[in-house]
Amino acid sequence: MKAYENMSIWMVAGSQHLYGDETLKLVRSHTEEIAGYLSSLDNIPAEIQYKGILTTPQEITDFCIRASADDHCAGVILWMHTFSPSKMWINGLKVITKPILHLHTQYNRDIPWGEIDMDFMNLNQSAHGDREHGYINTRMKIERKVVTGYWKDDKVHKGISSWIRAAAALKDIRGAKVARFGDNMRDVAVTEGDKVAAQIAFGFDVYGYGVGDLVARIKEVKEEQIDSLIKEYKEVYEIDKALLPGGSRHEELREAARLEAGIENFLVDGNFVAFTTTFEDLEGLRQLPGFACQRLMEKGYGFGAEGDWKTALLVRAMKVMGKGLSGGTSFMEDYTYHLDPANPMVLGAHMLEVCPTISGNEKVRLEIHPLGIGGKEDPVRLVFNVPEGDSVNASLIDMGNRFRLLVNEVYTVDITEKLPRLPVARVLWKPKPNLETASHAWILGGGAHHTGYSKQVTTEMLIDFCEMCCIEMVLIDDKTDISSFKKEVKWNDLYYTLKAFSGGV
Ligand code: MN
Repeated sequence: MKAYENMSIWMVAGSQHLYGDETLKLVRSHTEEIAGYLSSLDNIPAEIQYKGILTTPQEITDFCIRASADDHCAGVILWMHTFSPSKMWINGLKVITKPILHLHTQYNRDIPWGEIDMDFMNLNQSAHGDREHGYINTRMKIERKVVTGYWKDDKVHKGISSWIRAAAALKDIRGAKVARFGDNMRDVAVTEGDKVAAQIAFGFDVYGYGVGDLVARIKEVKEEQIDSLIKEYKEVYEIDKALLPGGSRHEELREAARLEAGIENFLVDGNFVAFTTTFEDLEGLRQLPGFACQRLMEKGYGFGAEGDWKTALLVRAMKVMGKGLSGGTSFMEDYTYHLDPANPMVLGAHMLEVCPTISGNEKVRLEIHPLGIGGKEDPVRLVFNVPEGDSVNASLIDMGNRFRLLVNEVYTVDITEKLPRLPVARVLWKPKPNLETASHAWILGGGAHHTGYSKQVTTEMLIDFCEMCCIEMVLIDDKTDISSFKKEVKWNDLYYTLKAFSGGV
């Protein structure tokens, strides 16, 4: 069972007719064998379909048009087993709209020293056939992933797997809809952005709604839908006794369930994959719908608070990338620091809206407490810690002439303190290379306070995703130093400015 049953990857080999039918027969069977082998691996998350070999300009162009038009195809793997002159590829590469992975491998692992002859050399010449293919892609400035190595090596599978996960996210967001209840939070800059530019870069569209549209749907929620949610909560969470049926605050849990059901009905009917709320615009809602946001993220929706549609989309894309992997993905905010020089850390949380998929084996508690801001009735919320492990924080910002994804690799640490007066979901992490450098670089890079936080998505997947979308990606990891980082962001500014002048997006 693959994580992505609704898509496939198409694999072909480029060749030509110079070598005769016997050689082409072998090129075909080797390519089919490699596609079948890769497809059979548990850690390759989508089916890889062998689609033949391409030996003429017309075959290549036809393949690129078919792949682009096919709904099921999420990307193509290209390999030049023999030499495939790249002028044949120009017209095809001009029209292909699907992500490309150039697999630079070779059918045989070792040189057969005793038997090798010129026939063998002519058949197994990806060492230079793939160089010719690399040239034309580079010359045409085509973004693609190059994965290098023997096709049975784990490292190759890891590279392909990461790219497939990014391709699945791109397939999901192209044409996807984000629902935005209320506008941006007043005067906040980083959560704003150019939605037309976003649609050009990523393919998703943001639909704005007045909160009254949502309130109308919440009023329509049937009592049976609330009953069934309450039943589900009892099975999944450790519930505060007062919230249970018969308890003094049970009605408030029913109200929280009504909000969840109303928002979900709205999203399902409109075919939305992500949504935003804003606590400045809650007219007609009795509680801040934080618990509903937690629940809907758990079901796979992207979410951004305070009208942050970019982060909502990013969280959705990261959830799709991480599908089937352990760890979870959530909307997140860098909230407050622990600046002890011996052990500097960041406490991440939000008012309420953190996704329980990142809670690991930790028991998630369903509680109700007052909230200092928002001016509504006490909101129900899920409270939990997040277990230690490798994680990433990613922030999508609008730089005016392109989107930048800023990524920080962090290590999440167990929370050993009790935090008795902080009943919200919370995460504690140590950024790489250290808090001082990471926060310095993050601020220089213009990264938002809102992020997609993930324990299942890797830096490599995010790099692959940014390359597919042709957007900027800036990484803060254990190798980051401020002096180089400053130069990188300045050079990037120049690159994207020039790119815009030369007609790129
Ligand atoms: Mn926020």
